[in-house]
Amino acid sequence: MNYKDLIAIDVHTHAEVSSRQPADVLWQPFEDAASVYFKTGKRPTIADTIAYYRERKIGLVMFTVDSEFEIGSRRISNEEIAEAAAANSDIMIAFGSIDPHKGRLGVREARELIRSSGVKGFKFHPTVQGFFANDRMAYPLYEVIAEHKLTATFHSGHSGIGTGMPGGGGLRLKYSNPMHLDDVAADFPDMTIIIAHPSWPWQDEALSVCLHKPNVYIDLSGWSPKYFPPQLVHYANSQLKRKVLFGSDYSVLTPDRWMKDFKDAGFKPEVHPLILKENAIRALRLDHTGGATARG
Ligand SMILES: [Zn+2]
Repeated sequence: MNYKDLIAIDVHTHAEVSSRQPADVLWQPFEDAASVYFKTGKRPTIADTIAYYRERKIGLVMFTVDSEFEIGSRRISNEEIAEAAAANSDIMIAFGSIDPHKGRLGVREARELIRSSGVKGFKFHPTVQGFFANDRMAYPLYEVIAEHKLTATFHSGHSGIGTGMPGGGGLRLKYSNPMHLDDVAADFPDMTIIIAHPSWPWQDEALSVCLHKPNVYIDLSGWSPKYFPPQLVHYANSQLKRKVLFGSDYSVLTPDRWMKDFKDAGFKPEVHPLILKENAIRALRLDHTGGATARG
């Protein structure tokens, strides 16, 4: 990623519409309910999304969410996203998503994605994947990520997916308490962990884990900065100013909207560049990649 040419790096965007496979009918009610919750319209294709970011000179990390075990809907393929990232490597990074329930086959897929497709991290969603992040079942996957010093992003807090559906779509919020990530951060100090979103109703847990573990970051995606809990803004302005990252959760929230509201959300002017870009360069080790290549 040529981060020097970018005004910001959005560490949290979703692959919404594939150009290779039809939308999954089983996923439709979840998407419809989420669209009501987030007040979103038509979902963009992967190509539309890249064009949006390119126009604005914003870098992006994109991923699908593999919930094939808990929800049973087919994911967009990790390869499609990785190929788009390779073709747009000046602005885009691909993360993979593998349901930890896939066991050894999932571990094998993770290795292949890192080796052949150049993915730089993995996205987990404990609620839609139906697991606690500190479940030993997921540890073989984390071992692969840690071995390559890559990033694992975990959804945290309330979930727009399932909101308003009968029984919340059968999904369980308890899995997304960020305190479970404390075990993961302790056991995998070489793996960068991003706690995604303001973690309401567990915001203080997320701040505590992020403060305690150097390998843990927080992304500010999924909520307009207008509605951030005050303690999140307080820590982002002080002790955690180098640990907090810009993310939108595109396409349910756009960078245009996020950045407009960010200006007036009480963040000190000197932390704006840290949050928008500098912290992501360090968290994703973007500067190391260049150095390693230069040294051969
Ligand atoms: Zn998300």
